[in-house]
This record gives sequence, structure tokens and C-alpha cells, in this order.
Amino acid sequence: MRDFPAIQNTTYDVIIIGGGINGAAVARDAALRGLKTLLIEKGDFGGGTTSWSTRLVHGGLRYLEYFEFNLVRESLREREILLRTAPHLTKPIQMTIPVYGYGSRSFWEIQAGMLLYDLLSFDKTLLNHRILTSQKLRQLFRSINSEDLKGAAQYYDCQAEYAERLCLENILSAQKAGAEVLNYAAVTQIQRQGERIAKITCEDLLSGESFAINQVDQAVVINTSGPWVDQVCGLGRTDGQPSPLSRQRKIGGTKGSHIIVNPFPGAPSTALYVEAKVDNRPFFIVPWNKMYLIGTTDLRYEGDLNTVKANDDEVDYLIAETNRVIPTAGISREDVQFTYSGVRPLPYAAGKKPGSITRSHVLYDHTKDGVANLISLIGGKLTTHRQVGEEMVDVIYRRKGEKVPPCPTRTQLLPGAITVNDPRVTQALEDYRDRVPQASIHHLFSLYGAQAPAVLAWVDDTPELGQPITPSLPDIKAQVVYGVQSEMAHNLLDLCRRRMTISMQGNYGFDALPAIIEVLIKHCGWTEAECDRQVEAYRAYMETNCIPDFAIESQLSERKLKSVVVSSSVSSPVVP
Ligand SMILES: Cc1cc2nc3c(=O)[nH]c(=O)nc-3n(C[C@H](O)[C@H](O)[C@H](O)COP(=O)(O)OP(=O)(O)OC[C@H]3O[C@@H](n4cnc5c(N)ncnc54)[C@H](O)[C@@H]3O)c2cc1C
Repeated sequence: MRDFPAIQNTTYDVIIIGGGINGAAVARDAALRGLKTLLIEKGDFGGGTTSWSTRLVHGGLRYLEYFEFNLVRESLREREILLRTAPHLTKPIQMTIPVYGYGSRSFWEIQAGMLLYDLLSFDKTLLNHRILTSQKLRQLFRSINSEDLKGAAQYYDCQAEYAERLCLENILSAQKAGAEVLNYAAVTQIQRQGERIAKITCEDLLSGESFAINQVDQAVVINTSGPWVDQVCGLGRTDGQPSPLSRQRKIGGTKGSHIIVNPFPGAPSTALYVEAKVDNRPFFIVPWNKMYLIGTTDLRYEGDLNTVKANDDEVDYLIAETNRVIPTAGISREDVQFTYSGVRPLPYAAGKKPGSITRSHVLYDHTKDGVANLISLIGGKLTTHRQVGEEMVDVIYRRKGEKVPPCPTRTQLLPGAITVNDPRVTQALEDYRDRVPQASIHHLFSLYGAQAPAVLAWVDDTPELGQPITPSLPDIKAQVVYGVQSEMAHNLLDLCRRRMTISMQGNYGFDALPAIIEVLIKHCGWTEAECDRQVEAYRAYMETNCIPDFAIESQLSERKLKSVVVSSSVSSPVVP
């Protein structure tokens, strides 16, 4: 699969550094328009900021306050495109904004904002907003805190519950169109020759070996490394000496954290968009995957981008504000099932309030820095990734002095695109009635869309792969094999966190590891020793990034982590 000698000697039109949602979208668009494309990602596809977002495909109502009408319009247009091209991964979600007297925005300001939001999405397929009196809201939502409640606005946006899979589908689509895509390959040096990047050196993190892409000077290099953009620019070398690719800092990231909790007393059936009382920051309480995703915070961040974690204060803030708006919730630290935190790749803007920094994206041409074949993406939301791909590829064609071909991604469906009424769903429910639980089949279609039958096909020869991985979740063992064989999953984190969502759905995924390891040993040729290493790496990652410090320090961690297993405890390992 990873043919480095061929890659080293290929002349690419475009080389993309960073395989988050934006790099994936550029790769897909470029490959579909016929460019020879290479994408290099140091971790897993979508494993950076893309997997740490609130997972909303939204216009960004809040940006209206900063008069970012273009951004809102663009995002709302992209929301519609995604509803058409990725209907299995982009679902409408009703949002409710309760308005309180102490809030920083008055009821009429919210109403004006809603009107404008509807105007800017005049061509949408979703419903317009509606305004509710406080009495009406209390009827609909009995557990809402009614003290000083002035009323509410309700409107629709969209949710990409599996943002990581949206990224992966862009990658797989790019690959199908001829792009070379590598995960676990880090760019380590970028050699300049005169005004151009001439060579890129990488490390294959799976084997530890280095390889170089030698014929880069005719390519356009695209830096879509999100919050790492400045670090990648710092990899520039001239004659072996450091030679940064940018004269100024580009990114000034802010950290945003989320917590995930199980349904709680009084939990809303719609997403809530609430203003926190303590600092007037808006945050979301979103139904997600039969649980609730609550976030986010917005704090300046200058730390290590590879180990970003929600700190205890952030977790307590999100708990307290949720309990305030839904007093019956009674959420405590013990209820937190998972936390995650990421750094928004925002443009560097010293001295600005985090919330007021623009969320628009910029394609930064490094010609100004004396590098003629490099473009960096500054910013870029999950929602607008397709648009970024389109803009980037238009620019690449112009750079090549060629006519810009029409962009296919406005209409071309992602590989899994399917609607719930598709006959393939009914067919699969019928075909696998006795071999796979019906809830699992529905789940597979929501995760893989039209590719679900390919996952189920593993059950044809090996019926045991139709069994759920754990009794509490619908994911089946065939997904493990499919992730490794067809979706470039290389480790437990890829499988549990990004091909499936098991990590986020109870005990950090530890309870599922024995069954997953058994499948990996039996059906994917993994050795016991490898599984031992993987379990330790998985545990270390969870402790560094996802398990809150208070849980690690308290007895809570002992209770939660005692079920962590290593492969030696896995029953009947059979190495094929
Ligand atoms: C808390 C939070 C909430 C958000 N909520 C939303 C939301 O609800 N809706 C929305 O639209 N947007 C949201 N966003 C914004 C959105 O998630 C990001 O802007 C988007 O995911 C950025 O994607 P990206 O591909 O540019 O960057 P990333 O996903 O970070 O990808 C960059 C990739 O580059 C790779 N890389 C770095 N260095 C190298 C190297 N040397 N070699 C190879 N690869 C390298 C990294 O490993 C990484 O995978 C949110 C962001 C945050 C942090």
C-alpha cells in the first residue's frame, strides 16, 4: 500500500501537508480535477483539530455580531451542499436559544440576528426560525431554568456527528480519484532552492524510516496543517541551514474543550445554545450519539499542540453552566464520560479577545516571503472545508497558467452518500436478519452510509464478525477488520476514536479493547506483543489527552481504569 520508492520519484502537481478536514478536501478536489496529488499526514487522518470540534455544520450565528456576513453566507451555502453530498454524515439539528434577562444580548437582538440568519440562508431546505415566549418554551422544555427567562429562538443548523468520518470520506474519495494519501508520515524538512521548495523530507512513523519527495519544484505545496501551520513553516531549510518559509507568525490558536455525558434528568431533545452566566460566552449542549456533547471554552493557547487537554476548571465551568440552565441535570465530575480539547487554527491577532478573532479563512501565498510554490491555509472551519478545497485548487490551476476546470465537489456525492429510505438499507436488514442485530445494521448505515454493505460482507464468510463488540454498543466486530483492511486504520486509537466512536462512549473505550484485540489477532494478523504495545499507547493517549486530571488523581480513575486490559488476558489468541 505504501510504495515509497514510487512516491519519491513521482512528479506531483500538488503536495498537501496535513490530512485534517481541509487537507482532505483539497486532496479530493485536486484529484477529482485531474491533478497528480500527494497528501502527507503525520498522525491519523482527521486526528488533529478536526476530531476536536463541536461537530456542527453551521453558519455561525455568533459571527453576525462581528459583521462577518460573507462568512455566514458562505457557511450556510456549504451547509446546503453537504446536506446534498453527504446526507448520511450531515443531519439537520434543531437549536434552541433561551434568552435570559442577565444575558449580554437582548431578546430583540436575538430576534434580529435570527431574521438576518434566515435572510442569509434564503435558498436553504431547512425551516426558518421561530420565536417562543418564555411560557411557550417552558411548556416545551419543562426543565429549563425559568428565572429571568425572556423567551427563546428556535432554528435549524446541521450536525456532523462523525466529523472524523467526514474527513475520512474525503480522503477515500481523493484516493479513489488517484491521489496518494499517507497517514503516519510526518514532514520533517522542507528544502528550498532559490525561490522554490525543491524537496520534502518525511519520516514514515510506522517503520521509522525516512523518505524524500525529490521533484517538488514544479509542484504547488499546500500547508493545511491547521494549528501546526507555523511549525511546518519552521521546517524550511536552505543548504541544510534553517530557513523559515514565513516571515511572520500566522496562527494564534485558542483552545476549546468539551465534555461528554450520558443523558441526564431534564436533558433537552434539541441542541441548546446558551450564554454562560459567569462570562457571557455562548456554549452548546448538543445531543450526540445518544449522549450529550457540551462545549466549548475559548482560551488563548501557547502550549504543546500534540497534547491538549481540558483542564479541571474548564470541565467544572461546563458542568456548572449546564446545571444552571437545566437545574434538574445535577451533573457532577463523576458523570463525565470523556473530555476532549483542541486548538482552533485562528489567524494570529495579538491582543484581540479570543471570541472576536475572525473565523474566516485566508489562503496565504508565501511569494511575499520569497517562497513561490507554497500556500498556507490560515483558519478554516469544518463547515467550509469543501469551499477551501475549491478555492485552493482554483489557485493551483491559475499558478500553473492553465484554464481552471469546473469544480466537481459542489455536486459530486461523497462515497457513502445515502438517504435513510434507500432500498439498500431494507435489503441489508433482510439479508443479515439472523446474523447481525437490526440496531447494528442501522448504525452501520449512519456511520458508513453506502459503504455499510462492504462492512457487512465480512460477516458472510465469518459469521462471528456480526457480533457486537460490547453488549452496550451497536458496533460489530466486522468494523474492526474493515477499518484495518479498507480504511487505513493502524492502531487502536484510529479504530476506537476515529473509525468508530467507542472511545467516547463509556470508560474511554477500555471495556471494548479485549474484544477488539481478539479480532485483530484472529483476523488481521496482529501479534500479541504488538497488541500489548498498542494497549499501552492507547492508555497513555487517553491519560494525556482525554481523562480529566481530577479523575486520574482520584479514586474515580481506579474504578474506571481497573478494567483496562492487556492482550495477555485476551482469550484464545490465534495468530493466522
Ligand atoms: C473546540 C473547537 C470547536 C470547533 N467547532 C466547530 C464546529 O462546530 N463547526 C465548525 O465548522 N468548525 C468548528 N471548529 C473548527 C474546525 O474544527 C477546525 O477549524 C478544522 O477542523 C481545521 O481543520 P484543518 O484540516 O485545517 O486542521 P487539522 O484538523 O488540525 O489538521 C491539520 C493536520 O496537519 C497535520 N500535521 C501537522 N504537522 C504536520 C507535519 N509536519 N507533517 C504532516 N502532517 C502534519 C496534523 O497532524 C493534523 O492532522 C472547532 C474547532 C475547535 C478547536
